[in-house]
Parts: sequence; C-alpha cells; structure tokens
Amino acid sequence: MKEVTYLIVGGGMTAASAVSGIRELDKHGTIAILSSENQPPYNRPPLSKKLWTGKKKLEDIWRDLPDDVAFHAGRTAVNLDLDRKVVTDDTGEQYRFEKLLLATGGSPRRLPFGGDNIIYYRDLNSYRRLRGLAAEHDRFVVIGGGFIGSEIAAALAMQGKQVTMLFPEDGIGARIFPVELASFLNEYYGEKGVNVLAGESVTGLEGSGTDLTVLTESGRLISANGVVAGIGIIPNVALAETAGLEVGNGIVVNGSLQTSHPDVYAAGDVASFPDPYLDRRRRVEHEDAANSMGRVAGQAMAGGDSTYDYSPMFYSDMFDLGYEAVGRLDSRLETDVAWEEPFHKGVITYIDEGKVAGVLNWNVWDQVDQARERLGQPVSAATRAATEG
Ligand code: NAP
Repeated sequence: MKEVTYLIVGGGMTAASAVSGIRELDKHGTIAILSSENQPPYNRPPLSKKLWTGKKKLEDIWRDLPDDVAFHAGRTAVNLDLDRKVVTDDTGEQYRFEKLLLATGGSPRRLPFGGDNIIYYRDLNSYRRLRGLAAEHDRFVVIGGGFIGSEIAAALAMQGKQVTMLFPEDGIGARIFPVELASFLNEYYGEKGVNVLAGESVTGLEGSGTDLTVLTESGRLISANGVVAGIGIIPNVALAETAGLEVGNGIVVNGSLQTSHPDVYAAGDVASFPDPYLDRRRRVEHEDAANSMGRVAGQAMAGGDSTYDYSPMFYSDMFDLGYEAVGRLDSRLETDVAWEEPFHKGVITYIDEGKVAGVLNWNVWDQVDQARERLGQPVSAATRAATEG
C-alpha cells in the first residue's frame, strides 16, 4: 500500500494545474497521479488546432510536473473506498490518501458500429494516428459538427485533404450558434473545399484499414481512407458513483470544488460546479475550466480557503475565423446579434429570462473579462426591443 498526502485520479490538464495549486500552499506533501494515458500531462487544444497549422510543435504541448510528483502512467483507478480512503488501480496497487482529486474527464461517445476503424478524436494517441494517416492518404470523413468536427475538418482541409463532414443538425456548431451563423459556416466550409453534409446521419461503416465506406441515412456511400468522429463525451463518473459520491450531470461539487465527501474534490470536464456568475450549476468541457478548476481544487486540498468564483471561457478556430466566449452558448436561447461585419466580426449576446447568459465574441479578441462581467446582468429594455423587433 502506497501512502500519499494528495492523490489525483486522471492525468490531464486539470491534474497538472492541481499540482501547481497544491504546491502554492504545501511544498512538501507527497503527490501521486494515476493516469490511464500512457504519457504525462499535455495541453489538449493544440491537438485539433495549432499542431496542424504548424504554429505549435509536439514538444510544446507538455505540461511541467515537479520531479517529486509520482506519475503512474497507464494506470486506471478501478475502486474508491471512502471509509478507508483507499484507491485501487487496475493492477491491484492500492493508494491511501489524505486528500483525493477526481479529474477523470470524459470518454468519447461511440457509434454502435465501426469499432476501431473510427478514430474517436480526443487524445494524443488519436492525434498521432490521424496525423500518420493524413501523411499517406487523402480522403477523410469527419462525423459530428461540434468542436472536434469543425476543428478537425478545417485542419484536414488546410492540409489539402478531401474532407466530407456530416452531422445530423442543420449547421456547423448548430448547438451553440444562432441558425444564421451555423448556416453561414456550412457555406464557408464549402468554399474552403469541405463537402458539408448537414442534416445527415451515419448509419454504418464497411471495410477496414484505409479502405472504408461510410453509409448514411439518406443512402449515400462515402469512401474514405480515414474516418474521424467527434460526437461528444460522456463524463467519467463511475468511480465516484460506485463509491457513493453525489453525481448528477457530472460529479457534484460545492464552491470549493469539494464533493459530498469532505476529503474528495473533483474538477475539470467531470465536475458539476456552481457558476456564481450565472447562479446555476454547470459542467464545462474546455481548457480554461480544466486549468482554473484544477488550480483552485489543488489550493483547497492543501488547506487554502479558495473558492471557484469564476466562469470559464472557451475559444475555437475555424480556418480564418475564430472566437472567444463565456457563459452558456445555447442556440435555443434568445440572442442579440451585433455585427460589425456580418458573420466576420461581431458580438452575440445570449439571453435567458431577461439576463445575459452568454457572450460570443466572434473574431473579437481579448474582451472576455468585460464579457464575463456582463453575465447575469439584466439586458436593457432597448436591446430586448431591438432583438424582438
Ligand atoms: P460536441 O462539441 O459536444 O459536439 C458533438 C456533436 O456531435 C454535436 O453536434 C452532436 O449533436 C453530434 N452528435 C451526437 N451524436 C451524434 C451521432 N450519433 N452522429 C453524428 N453526430 C452526433 O463534442 P465533440 O466535438 O466530440 O468534442 C468533445 C469534447 O471536446 C467537448 O467537450 C468539447 O467541448 C471539447 N473540445 C473543445 C474544444 C474547444 O474548446 N475549442 C475543441 C475540441 C474539443 P447533438 O447536439 O444533436 O447531440
């Protein structure tokens, strides 16, 4: 049995930030990380963005971990005994902890066919696999119109690949963007050479290796050398749930990122936290949430009185377009759209019950802090009249 002061389950960006948070307050407590990945922590956003444009190299993505952190690669936690404060990993090794952080993230949602012929794009291994395929082959199908789908379709097209992108919604990013913007993106991707099949679902996959055929609901057969899917993630809550921790849409934490057990914390993609700006519980699957929550959780575990009084931002790049955003971007909400240049530069405000729920700065940069301050504020009557009109 190993004895550690701080045990972190999950070895991603949240874990790396938690180590920094712990070390700000406790220089000596022992720290161990269990990671099911076979490499140390790295930044994930470049995997679908800057590694493809050449703005970053693989050696730039690694996160620094102090030498005194015991990093156990390729180990998955399979049991959490809250009474004994012991975690068991998949080799049977046990770790007794004083404080535990669950930073278990999420796993890609999978289609019921296709097996490993489909690359569920999420981690460094999937980047390496797709990069290897793209070095040798030309035809790719991208399933999903969310973050992964839009970024990877653009990345492959910018490599000169023939890309067909298909998703069940009417437009790219339709879950978050107003309908006009999502429709514009369909056209924009088309102009960039992507074959966009909106409102199309995949129903099967035939073949193997680099000789694949994607079958669609409307009867299309699309041949491809590689098939990539980004159809969402499912938060990894099983360890917490089986241990008896409170779980809803993610592991439920309070303002100090503490779970229903006082010595167990959760942060990152897997945590359902109270967003003080929006006065509601949220689970956010983005880099800024991982880093900011990880750090606060680390500080709190080390005895600090830190609270998570923050609303994380997120961003994306799609060819020459990009954005930064805060709050809830949900296309079902009422929006106030203020273009400086239609579809190329502007600010979209998402409104829920008369208050600002989210802000999308479209090709508008470095204004996120100001946007965050607007969250939860009443929207002026003049703006609402203009929106409704
Ligand atoms: P996502 O952004 O949630 O998008 C998933 C998309 O797949 C949705 O449009 C969804 O449509 C669609 N979908 C669901 N089931 C499908 C099916 N059976 N067939 C085809 N499409 C289906 O998730 P993601 O793109 O997979 O990204 C995974 C995670 O990585 C997300 O948490 C994301 O936030 C994160 N990520 C973030 C960034 C960034 O911050 N820039 C970049 C990359 C990844 P419905 O809405 O209809 O379900």
